[in-house]
Amino acid sequence: MAGEDCIFCQIVAGEVPANIVESDERTVTFMDIRPATRGHVLVIPRRHSRDLLEVADEDLRACMAAARRAAARARDRLGADGVNLLNSSGGAAWQTVFHFHVHVIPRYEDDPLRLPWTPEPGDDEEISAAADVLRG
Ligand code: 5GP
Ligand code: ZN
Repeated sequence: MAGEDCIFCQIVAGEVPANIVESDERTVTFMDIRPATRGHVLVIPRRHSRDLLEVADEDLRACMAAARRAAARARDRLGADGVNLLNSSGGAAWQTVFHFHVHVIPRYEDDPLRLPWTPEPGDDEEISAAADVLRG
């Protein structure tokens, strides 16, 4: 899905309004319409790609550099105490818009966001078995 079917391509093309805060030759950074915290922005490549596994290296690099600039702005201008970068790749990972994007979510000491899971120690054998598969 690209071009007229993709809402983020439409934002890049100026066909759908967005609150753009920064852009460069490869990326556009704009406000998320359903912000997790004050100042939540999305960084996208101008060129359509579906997700993390599809995005071209140079677009990924440009997006990460833009995400870092957005994080610095959140700290310097909004007084954020920290920042979460989030990328969801695939429906199982909560991706809902299938044009690669990085969420830049400013964090404040007293904000209400919590991890969606409870970190607990894993099983050593399972961890090692997964590592074996990953190493191949
Ligand atoms: P995902 O769920 O794919 O990781 O993130 C998609 C994000 O895009 C959501 O946080 C959602 O609020 C945001 N979003 C969806 N449609 C629009 C839109 O038309 N304009 C803007 N600015 N954000 C959008
Ligand atoms: Zn797109």
